Amino acid sequence: MKSFNEIKNQDKSYIANTYARFDVAFASGKNAHFTDESGKDYIDLGSGIGTNSLGVANDEWVAAVSSQAAALAHCSNLYYNPVTADLAEKLCKNSGMKKVFFGNSGAEANECAIKTARKYSFDKYGADAQRNKILTLRNSFHGRTVTTLAATGQDVFHNYFFPFTEGFLFSAPDLCEIKNIIESDGHVCAVMLETIQGEGGVLPLEDSFLKDLCAYVHSKDILLIVDEIQTGIARTGKFLSYMHSGICPDIVTLAKGLAGGLPIGACLFNEKTEYTLGFSDHGSTFGGNLVSCAGANVVVDNVTAEGFNEEVTKKGEYIRAKLKELLGDEISAIRGRGLMLGIDFKSKTAKEIVAEGLKNGVVMLTAKQSVRLLPPLTISYEEIDEGLNRLANVFRN
Ligand SMILES: *Cc1c(COP(=O)(O)O)cnc(C)c1O
Repeated sequence: MKSFNEIKNQDKSYIANTYARFDVAFASGKNAHFTDESGKDYIDLGSGIGTNSLGVANDEWVAAVSSQAAALAHCSNLYYNPVTADLAEKLCKNSGMKKVFFGNSGAEANECAIKTARKYSFDKYGADAQRNKILTLRNSFHGRTVTTLAATGQDVFHNYFFPFTEGFLFSAPDLCEIKNIIESDGHVCAVMLETIQGEGGVLPLEDSFLKDLCAYVHSKDILLIVDEIQTGIARTGKFLSYMHSGICPDIVTLAKGLAGGLPIGACLFNEKTEYTLGFSDHGSTFGGNLVSCAGANVVVDNVTAEGFNEEVTKKGEYIRAKLKELLGDEISAIRGRGLMLGIDFKSKTAKEIVAEGLKNGVVMLTAKQSVRLLPPLTISYEEIDEGLNRLANVFRN
């Protein structure tokens, strides 16, 4: 086994310098436990940025992924295969959407959504109408490609890489402002949003706002794209988070938690958009990869099983109650839904808490000025207790 310093030096020598990593190297794990290269145990309250939905090394997931790797890892999209279509059917049947395009990441899923929205209006209203702009919300996050950066409603992301893709407008989550922008511009083909802004600080939208917005855009034949990359796949206690509000998006994007830790992206289309992309309008070499899809099939089966979402909701409430009991005086706000939580603390910054938490054996994330928890959906109550006790120790040292 390499020592921590050997791992770090090799990483620093050969991996591009885009990440400020913590001084930990993880080696293995089980459910919500991580073990580092020295054998130290951690409770994982971040699931690798919301990807490890079933925790680490879930038995059923490991069996499906390894037997798929042994049978056929990849065959390209030139051919049919027995695994990818299963996943597409599951995603459609559990969402009411009609068709799926598979990519490999969240940004790719959003690229597909943006292309689809523009082509929907191009096909219907013609090139001359120039109905090609997409309105997104301020403080949103939609990815790191040049176009999804342009779609991201934060100025800090609009730097260096000029020229960005044109055609994005930004608004506060306020229906009056959105209506004003759409009506004065006249070229909007879609509105794209996260129901809870994840990277933006775990900021939820009101269900009533979503309903009113959805009714308004649909009255104008403007498409609603919901970016469920962080909030989807039972993270908030529903299969997809927009289901809390009962709205019907035209395009939905998925990634992070979908394949339980393997790379995948998916763009879902409803009856309005299912035929918008036709032969050779879009593609991806690895999209729909069999190993990722085998993992995703296990994830979707598990999170749609009877009682799973209720359990996610209960665990979210348990974490909130436990946080108040252990650290009530230190906390100024808790936001979010299900197992997607943002916590504001009074006396220490989120960065300090996450760094000191790691030293105490608990893995957490930040989102802007907040501590963000995205634990594995399968975390046990014992693991929650242990993780939160280790977090509380940060304030006792
Ligand atoms: C993470 C994230 C993305 C980008 O996903 P990648 O897989 O990193 O490309 C897009 N939108 C939201 C809401 C996200 O949380």
